[in-house]
Amino acid sequence: MTDCLFCRIVKGEIPAKKVYEDEHSLAFEDIDPQAPTHVLVVSKKHVAQKEDAELIGRLHLVAAEIGRQRGIEDGYRTVLNVGPKSGQSVFHIHVHLIGGRPMKWPPG
Ligand code: 5GP
Ligand code: ZN
Repeated sequence: MTDCLFCRIVKGEIPAKKVYEDEHSLAFEDIDPQAPTHVLVVSKKHVAQKEDAELIGRLHLVAAEIGRQRGIEDGYRTVLNVGPKSGQSVFHIHVHLIGGRPMKWPPG
């Protein structure tokens, strides 16, 4: 989708600090990090809804691998914001990997 921010990052039209890439997914640093690690793992294809169970699983596995590489397995969050009330602003499926600091519960 030409007007989708994450599609444009996937296509290289908008620069991002990439941390991982494979056939299905791309991970890059969030522009407004909420923790020492704040990585977005996005699907390469434009998927707005969570209709693709395999893809969701892949994105979570990529997030877990990045968490391992960064040594933050003692506590991190993988977050899917869903809908405007959750704070979702980009309607292209993505998992937030947030960690590297103590996390509070419940999240805001
Ligand atoms: P959402 O709120 O939809 O769950 O997550 C969107 C995320 O994209 C936000 O955390 C926001 O900081 C991040 N973001 C917005 N614009 C850009 C950008 O141009 N580059 C990068 N790397 N992240 C962005
Ligand atoms: Zn998109």
